[in-house]
Amino acid sequence: MLINQLEEELNKCYPTTVKWRRHLHQHPEPSFEEWQTRRFIADKLRAFGYTEVEENVGGGGVVAYLRGSEIGPTIAFRADFDALRIEEQTGLPFASQNQGVMHACGHDGHTATLLSLAKVMKGHEEELAGSIKFIFQHAEEVLPGGGKAMVDAGVLADVEAVYGLHLRSPLEFGTVSYCSGYAMAAADFFDITIQGKGGHAAYPNGTVDSVVVASHVVNQLQTIISRNKDPKKAGVLTVSTLKAGDGAHNVIADKASIKGTVRTFDPELRDLIEGKMKTMTESICDAHDATCEVNYIRGYPALFNHEKETALIQMLFETNRTDMTVESIPLRMGGEDFAYYLQEKPGSFFFVHSGNKAKGIIYPHHHPKFDFDERAMLVGAKCFVDIIDHYLLSGVGAAAETKTAALD
Ligand code: MN
Repeated sequence: MLINQLEEELNKCYPTTVKWRRHLHQHPEPSFEEWQTRRFIADKLRAFGYTEVEENVGGGGVVAYLRGSEIGPTIAFRADFDALRIEEQTGLPFASQNQGVMHACGHDGHTATLLSLAKVMKGHEEELAGSIKFIFQHAEEVLPGGGKAMVDAGVLADVEAVYGLHLRSPLEFGTVSYCSGYAMAAADFFDITIQGKGGHAAYPNGTVDSVVVASHVVNQLQTIISRNKDPKKAGVLTVSTLKAGDGAHNVIADKASIKGTVRTFDPELRDLIEGKMKTMTESICDAHDATCEVNYIRGYPALFNHEKETALIQMLFETNRTDMTVESIPLRMGGEDFAYYLQEKPGSFFFVHSGNKAKGIIYPHHHPKFDFDERAMLVGAKCFVDIIDHYLLSGVGAAAETKTAALD
């Protein structure tokens, strides 16, 4: 069975996968500035023998094509490769050499995983009925992100389904998890400026007190969640910053500023919150003779895992990843720009748990001590092989028909 052979080849490649990951970890580059990283990926792909390698896709992405010998669907896998502006504190021998920049989200692991898959699959073009597209994406961490630009550049135009994974620390290694339907939130931000009229604190008449107006706004915004939002839908509105005045006891502040974030899954709820925030803030300011500016900044949309494709990977992983626990996990309020891919084509984004308490790998993503159990890269690559096996290897076999039938 070819799947066993591919697993064996991934096992053999593993020490090299680790080497690549550590190289990337040592040389992290922030979003939109991943020049060396892009070069590294493209050079590796060409060294594996890929002839169709496209660079600067959607600005900074790298895409490689592997065409099978027989006609069949094109399946895409995506890995992101940008790092964060964080000063690393892991003390690892391969810690970041770029001051103030760190691979603290595991994107070095995602990239090494997909490179190992590309290397192994290159030797098996003959056996593929269909094609594989390897999508290496720049700038996941910073708006507007690289994902939308790559999708807009048509990277998924000829693709039937698209899959991606995220390492998940500190959830203990040994589990692969999935989440059908909405899995990660739309993460939006807002900035509100309230302009009143300053004056002497002892004579409020004749002034427009921006502190009082801002207080009304902060309180009223919460009623969007408690009174306007459908209670069956998840949504959060947090005012995280409120500033007014310069510290004086006897001066009425002329200006106040409010900042915060909104997290939702349902697009209609997202529209409702944005709209209500604007009309409510304007009405309150109007009632108090203040003026305002409301700037609502949309982040990535909510990530929606397609039901059929998620049921498929669940079935494939349960069948093939027998040394792993395969489980469903609840949605979370963090954001991820893989959402754009899933708006364009069916697919699913899954998680390979990568914490390891015994080894001290206990820190969450975006933490200066973040790390992951490198074995999770091998598990991830094998999960991708399961997907390839389903679409491109056993596509004409009876086993595949049974598998597909089971999903309808
Ligand atoms: Mn990430």
